[in-house]
Amino acid sequence: MRIPILAGNWKMFKTIAEAKKFAEAMPVQGDRVEAIICAPYTMLPALSEALSGKNIALGAQNIHWAEEGAFTGEISPLMLQELGVKYAIIGHSERRAYFGETDETVNQRLHAALKHGIVPIVCVGEDLEQREANQTKEVVKVQMEAAMKDVSSEQMVTMVIAYEPIWAIGTGKTSSAEEAGEVIGFIRQLIADQYDQNIANQVRIQYGGSVKPDNIAGFMLQSDIDGALVGGASLQPDSFLALLKGAEQ
Ligand code: PGA
Repeated sequence: MRIPILAGNWKMFKTIAEAKKFAEAMPVQGDRVEAIICAPYTMLPALSEALSGKNIALGAQNIHWAEEGAFTGEISPLMLQELGVKYAIIGHSERRAYFGETDETVNQRLHAALKHGIVPIVCVGEDLEQREANQTKEVVKVQMEAAMKDVSSEQMVTMVIAYEPIWAIGTGKTSSAEEAGEVIGFIRQLIADQYDQNIANQVRIQYGGSVKPDNIAGFMLQSDIDGALVGGASLQPDSFLALLKGAEQ
């Protein structure tokens, strides 16, 4: 059985003081849903401390492929590991669109994360133009194949995939739960084709893009959807707790 996973992506929001306040408002979480906060780097140490004992894991929003080096502005897997970071978002569409990340760098980052025991949350998804041209599955297939290059079966089962249609991110528009379920079912099939059905059945695949407390339950009803990657609605404690509750249904 796959345990649903609810990850908040705080993007470039909050100060350390605000992050601490958020953490203080969090009750200890149960085990029915895995809760994660992917926070900006500056507040990871404070959050690591403030969330300890609350059963909420810490995630980063990116990870570099090298352990160290002349890579101004990047963050190394060793630095994240030292802070107790358990997850890293890789290949978010904002990284791809604004910072030139490619399927190849997604693959490199993902291997670095796996090597250091950090679980990648790999983002894939089509933009509006591609969707309107009926290319969603083709786009996702190319992204998945490139991202998963040289990933072993043992590594694949630990991975988290986030299907995020780009036109649904931060726009208030969502894919219908059925459509999202269909694309996520297709991603699972891709994994089954590349590995086998048993591996595919173990990989957790989230939906992301304007998920809110009042629509999360619909996505969770889809058998292939294992939770959500949430931006805007993860920023306030009440809303995050409501999302967790919705993910438990
Ligand atoms: P959103 O962001 O929930 O604000 O649409 C989702 C994401 O970018 O992961």
